[in-house]
Amino acid sequence: MSGAAIPPDRRTIIASLRDYVEQLREEGMEGVPASARAPAATAETSKPAARSVAAAGSSVPTELFYLYPGLEKTSDLTELREFIGDCQRCKLAPRRTNLVFGVGNPKAELMFVGEAPGADEDARGEPFVGRAGQLLTDIIERGMGMTRAEVYICNVIKCRPPENRNPELDEVAACEPFLFRQIDIIRPRVIVGLGTFAVQALLKIKTPISKLRGIWHEVRGTRMMPTFHPAYLLRNAGDKRLVWADIQEVLKVLGRPIPQRGARG
Ligand code: URA
Repeated sequence: MSGAAIPPDRRTIIASLRDYVEQLREEGMEGVPASARAPAATAETSKPAARSVAAAGSSVPTELFYLYPGLEKTSDLTELREFIGDCQRCKLAPRRTNLVFGVGNPKAELMFVGEAPGADEDARGEPFVGRAGQLLTDIIERGMGMTRAEVYICNVIKCRPPENRNPELDEVAACEPFLFRQIDIIRPRVIVGLGTFAVQALLKIKTPISKLRGIWHEVRGTRMMPTFHPAYLLRNAGDKRLVWADIQEVLKVLGRPIPQRGARG
C-alpha cells in the first residue's frame, strides 16, 4: 500500500494540538488574543465571508490569501514574484541581501520545500546552494536520477532569519501565503517536505518530523512526503537510509525508475 495520501488521524491531530499548546505555554502565552478568536455569529458574520469564496474561474480556495488581496489572481510564477516585489511585509526584510523566491521548472512534477535561506542562499538569491543544498542536489541527481532544473525548489520563508535562527510565527504567517500560491500555480504531483519546520508549516501541525516522515500526507490537494532535512543528514548520516526509503516512495508515485545503489553512491 503505497502512494495513498492520508490525512492525519484524530489521535495525531490531538497529540499535535497538545504539543502546540504546550509550546505556546512555554513561550509565555496565557490566552488567545481576542482578535484571534472566531467572531461571534451575527447577521453579517453568519454568512460565509467573501474572502472564502474561490476566485471566479478557479477551484483554488482563496481563504489563505486574505492577508494579501489579489494574491489569488497571480496566474504564474513571474506574476507571483512581481506581486511579492521588494517585500517589506515582515521584520526579516531589512537584513536580507536577496529575497530567495525559488528555482526550477515552473511545471515541475516534483517540488521540494525547505525552511528558509541560509547565508549562502541569501548571498546568491537561490535556495539550497550551501552544504545542505549540495546534499539535496545529490539526492535529486544521484538518488532520483533527475536534475535540479527538472524539479522546483523553494522554502517556506523567503528571507534569511538572522544567524539562521528558527523563523518566528509572525514571519511564517507573513510569508506562507506565497508558498501556498507557488504550490497552487505549479500544481506538482508530489511535494517533498524537508525537515520539521517545513513539514509543520505545510501541515499546520506540531508533530515532530520523526513521527511524520515516510507517511504520505496531503497539502492543497497534492501528495506530500515528509522527510529529514539535508542539514540534519549532514549531522546524522545514519538516517540517510530513511530518506532513501522516503525518496523511493516518491519515485514510485511518480512512476520513475529507482536508481541502483552504485548510481546513488
Ligand atoms: N536550508 C533550507 O531550509 N533552505 C535553504 O534554502 C537552505 C538551507
